[in-house]
Amino acid sequence: MNKQLFHNSLLLLFCLLLLFATVSCRNNPAPVNLENESSFQREASPEDNNPANKNAGSEKNTGRGQENEGSSTAGDVPPELQDPAPNELGQVMVAPNELGQIMVLMYHEIGYPEGEWRRTPENFRRDLQILYEQGYRAVTLTDMVRGEITIPAGTSPVVFTFDDGNRGNFNYLEADGEPVLDPNCAVAIMEDFHEENPDFGLAATFFIYYPNPFRQTEYIEKKLNYLVQQGFEIGNHTYGHANLQKIGAADIQRELAQHVKTTAEYLPGYEVNSLALPYGAYPKEPALAVRGSDGDTDYRHEAVLLVGANPSPSPFHNSFDPYRIPRIRASEMNTEGVGLYDWLEYFAENPHKRYISDGDE
Ligand SMILES: [Zn+2]
Repeated sequence: MNKQLFHNSLLLLFCLLLLFATVSCRNNPAPVNLENESSFQREASPEDNNPANKNAGSEKNTGRGQENEGSSTAGDVPPELQDPAPNELGQVMVAPNELGQIMVLMYHEIGYPEGEWRRTPENFRRDLQILYEQGYRAVTLTDMVRGEITIPAGTSPVVFTFDDGNRGNFNYLEADGEPVLDPNCAVAIMEDFHEENPDFGLAATFFIYYPNPFRQTEYIEKKLNYLVQQGFEIGNHTYGHANLQKIGAADIQRELAQHVKTTAEYLPGYEVNSLALPYGAYPKEPALAVRGSDGDTDYRHEAVLLVGANPSPSPFHNSFDPYRIPRIRASEMNTEGVGLYDWLEYFAENPHKRYISDGDE
């Protein structure tokens, strides 16, 4: 490419970035403990002790790096714009970075009206569209924690999780006495989006509790089987949405094992392998969140999810702790600067912080 043209493109890109930073005028994502203090310990950036990121050291994960960018003069080219080389189309390519961070999104209800814990179908579709356009691809939680992320080079994984098994996650309408998937429930929205954009992937974990996940008793078995057939995952959210910090060891194990047992009654052979802690509350005896037993039922979780505010470290990064995976609230209300859109903006401006696949399995 013509050198002058490249220089001009770079300048234009920077001006746009500056304009965006000025117009948006938002606080950058900063780690904030939104729920349970004891459950959310990670405040430092996963890159803090990563020598590969020394040049970004001043940003840490306080998210304050963009303020420097915003205040820099037009003569300074931010480091993010110096490194990447343009490809033949003039697009700025970002190098693969499988030590970069991954957003694990926490949704609750899909429905009306929009709320702190409820996303409208329209807004959920918009989330999918924007994630897709910005190069994110859906992977299962299991693949993420196992480091089996097989997405194309240059794309970034994103993990979808839904807590509580509300009806808007998976709802059947009835037509002529037959159940028909509600096009405005989360499952239908994700399937429709996947049909239009097959390369986005179709993956999510539903952290349900009992006795009535998805709130239609007559369809529990049908729904759970359907989800697993479609490649979705069922996660533990305790049997009865218990606060595990407030109950003893025997009750903790009963809550977790009874979920596993009940799920297996609906889904013979299915092994629940992840836990989202209700209220983000870790048991006083943390090991009980990972494994334990009640009667003849054992449980063993490969992943334990917190509520919280940060992206997760990469499973390949030495700070990754599968038993304390932070999640990002997929909400636009009261997100305190650390919601999905705050982090999307952060990663757009700090692409070197984001997990970017090298395309190898
Ligand atoms: Zn919950």
